[in-house]
Amino acid sequence: HGKQFARHHSVIFTVNQDKEMRESLALERALREARMEEEFHLLFQPQHDVAAGRVVSFEALARWQSPVLGPVRPDRFIRAAERAGLIQQVTRVLFGKALDALDLWPDDITVSFNLSAQDLADRAFVFSLVAQVHGRAIDPARIEFEITETAVMKDIAASRVLLEDLSAAGFKIALDDFGSGYSSFEYIDQLPLDKVKIDKSFVRKVTDSATSREIVAGIITLCRNLDLKCVLEGVETEAEMSTLAPLAPQLIQGYLFGRPMPQRDVLRLLLKPERPVDDASAA
Ligand code: C2E
Ligand code: MG
Ligand code: MG
Ligand code: MG
Repeated sequence: HGKQFARHHSVIFTVNQDKEMRESLALERALREARMEEEFHLLFQPQHDVAAGRVVSFEALARWQSPVLGPVRPDRFIRAAERAGLIQQVTRVLFGKALDALDLWPDDITVSFNLSAQDLADRAFVFSLVAQVHGRAIDPARIEFEITETAVMKDIAASRVLLEDLSAAGFKIALDDFGSGYSSFEYIDQLPLDKVKIDKSFVRKVTDSATSREIVAGIITLCRNLDLKCVLEGVETEAEMSTLAPLAPQLIQGYLFGRPMPQRDVLRLLLKPERPVDDASAA
């Protein structure tokens, strides 16, 4: 009986694997043939400063509308681009678009941009991005690179040197998805970070779990004591917000405050009258 089940099971597994293999090959081919400037675009999701009561930053999130495959989720095409050796090309195109958008925002609004493991593994590539910023006379302090533990764990010493150089050049560094996967306090200790982003899987649990609440509270306190900015990712509901409010979170990024949106909506939001005027002469 058991044997029969095992055989049956392995057949299903093979069929699924085969399907996955064909899908990922189709994905890589579509990427290779993509006209990236046209097919890729960015959406921007606000980061809300709770005390100031306003948006201070936007995370740039990649979207791909493939003429062959339709819309493809970013985590899928980023991984496919890494497998196909195309990630740097994708990153360069997206980064150019992020700078185009940032150019039209007020000076006190910043952009967060995700770098993948393979981007970060190549020093020369990262510095070609830096050169793009210098070439356009944009203040590096308005640009924050988001990195994940997977991107730095292969070689934390080399990552530290690179991030220190970026930091010295004026860029900001955020540790993304903290609390998920193998996140270690080692990264907070070793890397020149400006910001920690608490993974949305934690935020999702805070209304039901006192333990998750305490963990989030602990990370918020840790960040405050280390002078790191802290973002709660993935706040979707008023219930989550009222559970989290007593923990005095600094920054929130989640559907409750705004979904990823196109540039025209960003501009509309930044021009809204409730945005406090910080320059008296503008009034
Ligand atoms: P991430 O960097 O952690 O980005 C945050 C993700 O959480 C985004 O998903 C965002 O839309 C989603 N999110 C934000 N608030 C909420 C919420 O309240 N509820 C829920 N359920 N989700 C929320 P998205 O845009 O699908 O991106 C997924 C991942 O793909 C990103 O995770 C990032 O790892 C990767 N990615 C996106 N754009 C880029 C890029 O330009 N370069 C690289 N290397 N990776 C990117
Ligand atoms: Mg991110
Ligand atoms: Mg994240
Ligand atoms: Mg993520």
